Amino acid sequence: MRRPLVMGNWKMHGTRASVRQLLQEITRAGEQMPADVAVCPAYVHLQQALQLCEGTSVSVGAQDCSHMAAGAFTGEVSAEMLLDLGCRWVILGHSERRQYHGESDDLVAAKLAAALQAGLQPVVCMGETREEREAGEAEYIVSRQLRGALQGQAGLKQVVVAYEPVWAIGTGLTASPEEAQDMHAFIRAQLGDIAGADPGTMRVLYGGSVKAANAAELFGQPDIDGALVGGASLDANEFRQIVDATGARR
Ligand code: PEP
Repeated sequence: MRRPLVMGNWKMHGTRASVRQLLQEITRAGEQMPADVAVCPAYVHLQQALQLCEGTSVSVGAQDCSHMAAGAFTGEVSAEMLLDLGCRWVILGHSERRQYHGESDDLVAAKLAAALQAGLQPVVCMGETREEREAGEAEYIVSRQLRGALQGQAGLKQVVVAYEPVWAIGTGLTASPEEAQDMHAFIRAQLGDIAGADPGTMRVLYGGSVKAANAAELFGQPDIDGALVGGASLDANEFRQIVDATGARR
């Protein structure tokens, strides 16, 4: 059985004080959690988060990395730097990166190659917009983003896929458990066609307005292996309840 993963994407939020408070509320020294749990703060808060998570079962990731290994790339942070700092995870291809920073499928693929090469565990995001869903193109878009990122890569068993319908991110709208399950089953079937991917063991997370109130129903679906959580991950109580809801996995 795939162990659930719940990951908080803190986006561009927080101060050193709020990061400390949030992590003190989320973590308990030595506690075993029912899922793998990770938080992804902004780059400048990574070191502090890593220190606060030491000795707990919460791990830390970044929200992005460079597609280059090293060099004259002002403002960029490499996957190797993140690993060296102690990060385990990196989120790649988030819809906000695609939308506001023009990240193409090719760039996401290059970032994925850099992350895998460095030894990070990448969480590759994909999902359709409302217009694409209404036009009946959701599967086509997700398949293009999935294959665009993963095809031809080595080390794919380390990869986590996150299905995040763009229309559900930060909007309060959530895909119904059935809608989400359908797309997750589709993604898992597509993984079966990608050389080196293992659909039986690779985790597929759902993201898009996940909160304590809807998490158990989503996690009750057979192909939903956890969640990538934005807004609700900034509230320790909500986030912990989402983690606890992974107990609904069958
Ligand atoms: C996200 O940004 O990955 C996300 C899922 O955000 P939210 O939970 O706020 O919709």
